[in-house]
Amino acid sequence: MVYDIIIIGAGPAGSTLARLLGKVYNILLIDKRDLRENSSSRGNIKCCGGLLAPDAQKMLSKFGLGLPKSVLVDPQLFVVRAIDLEHNLERYYQRYYLNIDRFKFDKWLVSLIPEEVESKFNCSFKTYQVEQKYISVVFSQKDREVTAKTKILVGADGASSLVRRLSCGGGDVFKSYLSIQEWVKPEQKLPYFSTIFDSDLTDYYCWTIPKEDKMIIGGAFYPRENATEKFRLLKDKLRNYGYIFNNTEDQEGSLIIRPNWLIKYPPLNDNMALIGEAGGWISPSSSEGLSYAFKSSLLLAGSLSRSFDHGVKIFRRRTKYLKKNLFFKSFKSFFIYSPAMRKIIMNSGLQSIRIYKFR
Ligand SMILES: Cc1cc2nc3c(=O)[nH]c(=O)nc-3n(C[C@H](O)[C@H](O)[C@H](O)COP(=O)(O)OP(=O)(O)OC[C@H]3O[C@@H](n4cnc5c(N)ncnc54)[C@H](O)[C@@H]3O)c2cc1C
Repeated sequence: MVYDIIIIGAGPAGSTLARLLGKVYNILLIDKRDLRENSSSRGNIKCCGGLLAPDAQKMLSKFGLGLPKSVLVDPQLFVVRAIDLEHNLERYYQRYYLNIDRFKFDKWLVSLIPEEVESKFNCSFKTYQVEQKYISVVFSQKDREVTAKTKILVGADGASSLVRRLSCGGGDVFKSYLSIQEWVKPEQKLPYFSTIFDSDLTDYYCWTIPKEDKMIIGGAFYPRENATEKFRLLKDKLRNYGYIFNNTEDQEGSLIIRPNWLIKYPPLNDNMALIGEAGGWISPSSSEGLSYAFKSSLLLAGSLSRSFDHGVKIFRRRTKYLKKNLFFKSFKSFFIYSPAMRKIIMNSGLQSIRIYKFR
């Protein structure tokens, strides 16, 4: 049995590609998590802030999809509270995020995949071997190793993509941060997505996001070695700033890619493609990755439906537009993450809104 396409990873990128091409090509989709409808959250949750930004909402509209109510969590967020701890500055900015339960969101996307796609969950991709006509893909399934053959291999296996690392001979081409998130119970409900900037913590940013009666505290740290200490410092600083929360209910962590100006891409075989965060498709200014997961999978689906034989090459050409977009986001990053520039912007109050509080 030779598949047309094997996709590693059924996150937003992989499940979207499988949904778009599942009726056209013979596809095998593999994921180490269980994302079937009745699976439990234990060990299956992707560490994420679960905010669906306007760009990602736009992509869902382009797909003709409406989000089920069951995927949303309380409260919906219209304001970002930006806190610069270094300069003791605070501003509010209007933004339109949908606050979602990331696990339910991933399961919903998987539920849209046509039944023609062969999906294998709880299966871990191990390695691949490029042969003359096909690519052999090795994955584990219930303690045994299985080999499947495919004409095209797609890595949609996220920030720490093994497909990407193997193609780089074990190294990597992207800079990745370690993000740590803790779920805590806040004393008072704050309807804001807070972004926290402080060079003592990170050269990227930290955040708090309300989720029902809980709150996520998170941060992305580099170098990764002292991330735990920096995270502890973040919590201390938040307490000093006035956030009151109890002890941790849950802690999670994940790598997060931060592509830079000079975006280098992994050396891939002609019949291989990387989509979603595996391919470095994520905003370097906000770490918003869902819209890029959708955009890159749509680009690959469009390219493969135009020509199966040349689809991967067409995809690479078309990613120019995504690269340009990331280049501009890197430029924006320079202003947001330079402490001096940020101070000027926040002091000017440009585009900020006032929050009215009456006693
Ligand atoms: C802490 C944090 C907060 C974030 N918050 C937001 C946010 O609020 N909004 C936003 O837009 N983006 C956010 N992002 C980024 C976003 O989560 C990712 O960019 C997005 O999930 C990328 O989708 P993907 O399908 O490419 O990869 P993933 O969602 O990572 O999916 C990869 C899939 O591959 C599977 N997989 C991995 N390795 C293997 C293997 N060897 N074998 C089989 N399967 C494998 C995994 O189980 C997973 O299902 C955040 C990221 C982090 C780390």
